[in-house]
Amino acid sequence: MFERIINSAGLADIYQKVLAGVRLTADDGLKLYGTANLPALGYLANIVRERLHGQSAFFVRNQHINYTNICNKGCLFCSFYALPKDVDGYVLSPEQVQEKVRAYSHIPVTEIHMVGGVNPKLPFSYYLDLIKAIKEARPDVSLKAFTMIELEQIRRVAKKPMDETLLDLKNAGIDAIPGGGAEVFSERVHEELFQAKSDSDKWLETARTAHQVGLPSNATMLYGHVEQTEEKVYHYVKLRELQDETQGFLAFIPLSWHPEKTAISELPGPTGQMDLREVAVARLMLDNVPHIKSFWIMNSPAVTQVALWYGADDMDGSVLEYEITRDPETDRMQSLTHAQMLDMIAEAGRQPVERDALYRVIESPIPSIPHYMDTACDSIEPALA
Ligand code: SF4
Repeated sequence: MFERIINSAGLADIYQKVLAGVRLTADDGLKLYGTANLPALGYLANIVRERLHGQSAFFVRNQHINYTNICNKGCLFCSFYALPKDVDGYVLSPEQVQEKVRAYSHIPVTEIHMVGGVNPKLPFSYYLDLIKAIKEARPDVSLKAFTMIELEQIRRVAKKPMDETLLDLKNAGIDAIPGGGAEVFSERVHEELFQAKSDSDKWLETARTAHQVGLPSNATMLYGHVEQTEEKVYHYVKLRELQDETQGFLAFIPLSWHPEKTAISELPGPTGQMDLREVAVARLMLDNVPHIKSFWIMNSPAVTQVALWYGADDMDGSVLEYEITRDPETDRMQSLTHAQMLDMIAEAGRQPVERDALYRVIESPIPSIPHYMDTACDSIEPALA
């Protein structure tokens, strides 16, 4: 029956390639975006997802930290930043960041994810002190920090080549790089939305250097604003080429853009249907990237549950605090407890697997699905602070 559906969706040739494990072309990518049959697309992506990961769905007990919101880049899609002279700009001292880490010492967090704005006032020593403060408070945690764009700023104030800068950060304690800042690899979108920020060539060069010095990273793509389909396919092809070269990408995260409080808030933003399509196309195009993440904060817990059948094998994690797309006037703290993550994955019909920042499976026992489906709370709403 599925073959009939795939055929009627015009995806028969891609189906054969997927079954045979043959790499899809850019034209195939365009066809995947063009099909009106979303379940057929999800079916194809799920073949690859289950071939790689079976029933496993990964999550991490992590803490997100945003050390400063001050940024001089002015990206039009961003609602997070404050200009250097804005009254609501902040910079957390290393001691304040350490306090935040210690505040969750009762939770077995294995990953700290730390990013911020591009703050021109911060010296190189600040970043090193920040890393050391975190590792002092939680020596066993894996620290994933700084987008490629922040890394360029850090290199600037370090006054060193990128490889030496990255090695200094690595020696201070960072273990991986989150991979943000790519947006969409398109000079047109770059000019239109984020021209103060470096372009795709620079992003790829920084990622390459990070991988070469032994720092794995994730990769992202921000969609749902002014990008075009061809630009997204190009994005995948470029990431795939670099991955062939370095094998340094751990996961790809399609980031669903949130228009609220941005300079282009008149645009409608992505739908849940689009979120599922992005996850599925990413899984099919990025055949050499091990993990595809549906970030529940951006996609919502409900869409993420469905995405676990559309190509995603990872949902991110507990998060604990998130400032990037949070509206401080209306949003509560955004987080999920361990039980809620287990419940969320089990409700979706997948097997939860706790991982660390480097996707190493945590050895702590995880109850089987029948056990915790009986006992976990019903709600998948983010927990209150
Ligand atoms: S997306 Fe990043 S670089 Fe751009 S304005 Fe926001 S914080 Fe700054």
